[in-house]
Amino acid sequence: MSKLFRHLPSVDEVLSALAKGGGFGELPRPLVKNLVNDFLDICREEIRAGAFSEPEQLAVKALMPRLTAYVRAKSRPHFRRVLNATGVVIHTNLGRSLLAKPAIDAVAEACGHYSNCEFDLSTGKRGSRYSHVEKILCDITGAEAALVVNNNAAAVFIMLETLAKGREVIVSRGQLVEIGGSFRIPDVMAKSGATLREVGATNRTHLHDYENAVGDQTGALMRVHTSNFRVVGFTKEVPLAELRKLGDRYNLPVLEDLGSGTLYALEGEGLLGEPTVQQVVAQGADVVSFSGDKVLGGPQAGVIVGRKEYIDRIKKNPINRAMRIDKMTLAALEATLRLYLDMDEARRKIPTLNMITASPEALKSKARRLADAVRDALGKRAEVGMKKGVSRVGGGAFPEYDLPGTMVTVAVKGVAVKALRDALLDTDPPLIARIEDDEFLLDPRTLASTELKLAAHALKQGVAALTK
Ligand SMILES: *Cc1c(COP(=O)(O)O)cnc(C)c1O
Repeated sequence: MSKLFRHLPSVDEVLSALAKGGGFGELPRPLVKNLVNDFLDICREEIRAGAFSEPEQLAVKALMPRLTAYVRAKSRPHFRRVLNATGVVIHTNLGRSLLAKPAIDAVAEACGHYSNCEFDLSTGKRGSRYSHVEKILCDITGAEAALVVNNNAAAVFIMLETLAKGREVIVSRGQLVEIGGSFRIPDVMAKSGATLREVGATNRTHLHDYENAVGDQTGALMRVHTSNFRVVGFTKEVPLAELRKLGDRYNLPVLEDLGSGTLYALEGEGLLGEPTVQQVVAQGADVVSFSGDKVLGGPQAGVIVGRKEYIDRIKKNPINRAMRIDKMTLAALEATLRLYLDMDEARRKIPTLNMITASPEALKSKARRLADAVRDALGKRAEVGMKKGVSRVGGGAFPEYDLPGTMVTVAVKGVAVKALRDALLDTDPPLIARIEDDEFLLDPRTLASTELKLAAHALKQGVAALTK
């Protein structure tokens, strides 16, 4: 065995062989050198483990295919594009909303050039970063004032810290939710310095439950969107309009964490049960918060809209500085919001809305094109079919709502579905698929038309890796 070690090529030998083959000229040389070192360490481990028996197996030429694959895989950027064939439109793990084209352009413009980010072009003096989106947010939602922070978790926190610190906030037990990533209303409340005053039962809360809890210590009434779960059956929640009246009677602000929040009325598309931000503002919520990158379809942000007196106080909270959004977010958000000035344009141009509202016919035609591309890529060894199935909005919006569509099923002879799914995590780009009832599925809803061939190509790479 010790003889075999001597046959392992040196780093320099490998590097000059790589250079001759013209490989990796685009990568920094020190990086390639380190990776070659790592690769040779792995070979030493393998020699120790008895993986090699002949010296020829350790010749540079023999090692080269594995070595190049290793360097290619390890030198890729860590943050990468993937193909989302899960059918979950707002997939938090896959980066939530895709930006509309005008928003992408605005980001490029904002970060490649100087801008009036905090500069008032009418006075030549320092300006406010929020000025770029406040008016348009008010125009769209009907609110008096608006503010944007880093995400909705920050929005909820700063709203409570500003308006209810040291006081009680009354919330229904049915709304004390935990959403993904360990955001729990009771915990956020505790951190903000407000005291949670739970009322009602998990399934039913009445107006008199809130009213009985109002006292000297009360700072606010709050509603929280139940996000990714639903209480069904024998239930009762107090409508916002009634809480508004209670708030007026006791001079208390009514706060609403809308979660996803939508500016586009999805009711018209048959998705019921989620009020728009406009409706919530009109029904009298004093402060409403929602995410920028859920159904709104913009960049990660937490939007806070509402009555001027409250928003002004939140703006002045020193913590606001620690939650401020950057210029790329501002640019993307303004460009996205501008699309909402024409709701039809918003639906057509904002990918999130476009995918949620895609027609069954359009999805079927996309499934057909995807199936054809997969058949072309995999040939005879694969059985490719289509069947009806459902997608999800995701992001905690419409959690129980099935979006009907057409799925593409793929079965490859001799390849287990789980093995196929896992192999696709290592393709270029990776393809994230779904397994349902032991069947491998691609949901075309969340693939762009321009990605169908890429998805088929990824499948080809994945199958090749499994069957080589
Ligand atoms: C998603 C969500 C949040 C957190 O929003 P982020 O933008 O992810 O920080 C808070 N509350 C509710 C009800 C949510 O659905």
